[in-house]
Amino acid sequence: MTPQVEAVPARTCPVCGKETLNRHYSPKTKRYFYVCDDKQCVSPVTGKTVYYAVDKAGNPVIEYCPHDKAILEKKKGKYGFFWACPACRTIYRDKLGKPQFSGS
Ligand SMILES: [Zn+2]
Ligand SMILES: [Zn+2]
Repeated sequence: MTPQVEAVPARTCPVCGKETLNRHYSPKTKRYFYVCDDKQCVSPVTGKTVYYAVDKAGNPVIEYCPHDKAILEKKKGKYGFFWACPACRTIYRDKLGKPQFSGS
């Protein structure tokens, strides 16, 4: 299946509240991601730009750390995907595209 390349409607950025969350494609990782197009918009927790993973339907996945409400970053490691909190550095296992917060 080839990924869709057409533009998707902008979505509301959970950080700044503007309709500036847009989907982009990274040739480096060959993956889509969402980022807020407002360059001034950074995470209040880390002071850095927030990148969002994309779910199967093409929507941004916005997941918050239960400890400090920082937006989690989806990363790919040696053993597959995982979710990392940029603030407290907690790592969450990925379960069907979402971070797993409990042991169940
Ligand atoms: Zn924003
Ligand atoms: Zn955290």
